[in-house]
Amino acid sequence: MSSLAAREPDLSWSRAVISWYRSHKRDLPWRDVNNAYFTWLSEVILQQTRIDQGTAYYHRFVETYPTITDLASASEQDVLRLWQGLGYYSRARALCATARQVVTDHGGQMPLEYDLLLGLKGIGPYTAAAIASMAGGQDVVTIDGNVYRVLARCFGIYQDIAASQARGLFQAFGQQLLPAGQASDFNQGMMDLGATICTPNKPNCSACPVAVGCFARQNQMIEALPVKNKKIKQQVRYLHYLAITTDGIGLWLRMREGKGIWHGLWELPVLETAKDMDWKELSDVADTTIPEGQENLWSLLLPNLPVRKWVAPKHQLTHQTILANFYVLDIAKSADIEPMSDFLTTLGYQYLDQAALEAVPKPVLLSKFLASVSIAS
Ligand code: SF4
Repeated sequence: MSSLAAREPDLSWSRAVISWYRSHKRDLPWRDVNNAYFTWLSEVILQQTRIDQGTAYYHRFVETYPTITDLASASEQDVLRLWQGLGYYSRARALCATARQVVTDHGGQMPLEYDLLLGLKGIGPYTAAAIASMAGGQDVVTIDGNVYRVLARCFGIYQDIAASQARGLFQAFGQQLLPAGQASDFNQGMMDLGATICTPNKPNCSACPVAVGCFARQNQMIEALPVKNKKIKQQVRYLHYLAITTDGIGLWLRMREGKGIWHGLWELPVLETAKDMDWKELSDVADTTIPEGQENLWSLLLPNLPVRKWVAPKHQLTHQTILANFYVLDIAKSADIEPMSDFLTTLGYQYLDQAALEAVPKPVLLSKFLASVSIAS
């Protein structure tokens, strides 16, 4: 008996998954395309993204960059712009870097072997296994949240899936379930089973092809499995963005430098506070932290009265809740317009007209603001 699971892996179980998949598989545009580049694109887009949302982006990418060489030649700004709205922008930056590496190191052909794929920047074990099995026909199992859940429940695996050793243990266990030459259908069947039948809440056991002998079902352990102990600490952030205009049309923005989730996207001048504040508190209170080197700018900006305030809907990221206020500030008539413009320019901000505002890649919150609020006085 395996020390990991309460039940032994057996290939008849896997055949039931494959046969169910062949008659129930979801009709998804990246399936059966026999193109490793398209498989990779779909896998990257679908990380952290719902299928209905990801499908539109997949089509957009395939149409704009039909080959990996096209993607490798694109500017990061154009790729970020196309990615806009999907979040987790590091994925878009990694797409560019990986595509360029494939052109440089592999002559523009996406490798199909698991080990070579793992050698590419931005491709981890899951994506490497997905490409190697679906596009390369290699016998390697994919392990993601869906697979953890199905295996933990069906085979009675109590291993904490948040622990660092979990992936290796589940991978070794799943590998024993893989019928030779059928990794593509097995892996996709496991994904579909986890996504549509063995869901986190209220799994549809009566429609499950592997319900007979399911450990969790027999032992009333469905809610307890898989075990996940790591608590994600949520951070609440209070951000105050300034939409500064001089003509009611354009705004001052700059491209965010350095590391972080919004790196490479365009942003408005912003202040962060430890709690929520209105404009008066923001300009009065001593504990408003002004970013280093921006003191001169904010000492000129904060005494002005905004013409409009927009409270953004709560924006949930994996580890952060963003509560943001946007203030429209028209400085056309301010006596300090020249020094303000000089300070903004020195800090890297540019005055963008409507067309430029539309064209640059932006965080979702900024797009929502622009779609919701008029900046004209
Ligand atoms: S029987 Fe229910 S709990 Fe067990 S694998 Fe199927 S859907 Fe999941």
